[in-house]
Amino acid sequence: MKEIYGQTFEMLEQYFIEIGDKKFKAKQVYDWLYKKRVTSFDEMTNIKKELRDQLQKEFVINSLKILTKQVGEDVIKYLLELNDGNKIEAVLMLHDYGNSLCVSSQVGCNMGCSFCESGRLKKVRNLTSAEMVSQILLIEQDLGLRITHIVLMGIGEPFDNYENVMNFVDIINHPNGIALGSRHITISTCGIVPKIKGFMNHGKQVNLAISLHAPNDTLRSQIMKINKAYSLKELIPVIKEYIRKTNRRVTFEYILLKNVNDSLECAKELAMLLRGMNCYVNLIPYNETSHIEYKKSSQEQIMKFYDCLKKEKIAVTIRREFGSKVSAACGQLRSNYEEGK
Ligand code: SAH
Repeated sequence: MKEIYGQTFEMLEQYFIEIGDKKFKAKQVYDWLYKKRVTSFDEMTNIKKELRDQLQKEFVINSLKILTKQVGEDVIKYLLELNDGNKIEAVLMLHDYGNSLCVSSQVGCNMGCSFCESGRLKKVRNLTSAEMVSQILLIEQDLGLRITHIVLMGIGEPFDNYENVMNFVDIINHPNGIALGSRHITISTCGIVPKIKGFMNHGKQVNLAISLHAPNDTLRSQIMKINKAYSLKELIPVIKEYIRKTNRRVTFEYILLKNVNDSLECAKELAMLLRGMNCYVNLIPYNETSHIEYKKSSQEQIMKFYDCLKKEKIAVTIRREFGSKVSAACGQLRSNYEEGK
């Protein structure tokens, strides 16, 4: 059976044409699902019973289950169960500019970044587009609020699940659906170069963030396995091309790991690497986890690194520390849960 939340508007229109019905039915179904938020076809009362029965036979309206929920001051962290029993995480962050949801794109992850908890569980499978959409619907319903921003920074590598992620973006961006503005959606990748090229030519106006974490290939290869496949020598020119083609600013994420990548030499090298690019650096205080050796840089070192980039005229911000008290680093909630069992 097909998942109704995984249907882009165009797919649904096509479906109605194929069954010999009118394509405007797609708008009605989207309206029920995303504006009125019904959870059964029977509630779609402006669609005649016969067609509702047919929809019910061909589509499932799936939902996720909340296993645990940890509430912090400005962060709410969910452990969710999929229909097949797999577990994923989603984190809601309450900013002054809106409510941002960090969405997972895979069960586990194969990228193997040495500092990341998510990758301790190898990829079990990709999430479907519907399972990504469901994360938004479920949490909005649970909290009775509207999510205004989506970041694909939960468990998984979005560009290792390219098609489902692109459909997901289309579904939530569609004006007849959840209607999240494309500029409020951010895809974060560890740097899968061919997919960045595909994305660049796709013409989607969503934001791109690159998990950089090191200013040179030697260091980056030590902490991120992906750099052995796609080094900075390939990655940086593609990002430059992306910026030229799309005229959009790129975010570089840079986790500060104590005595690994947080020296002032690293900061200067980073400034040199990024000089002249329409970008900004988001410095991320490392969220320590009990399974991984890395330590978080001191506040003082973080400030020094920040000041150095500023002096070098690189746009830079420091990420607010959401949820370190509630284990909000990707993958922590799932692995704590598994161990507690
Ligand atoms: N695979 C994608 C998206 C998921 S990770 C990517 O690599 O971008 C989202 C961000 O969180 C990445 O920048 C990742 O490097 C970072 N991250 C992972 N573990 C972290 C931790 N323990 N503390 C802080 N940030 C972490």
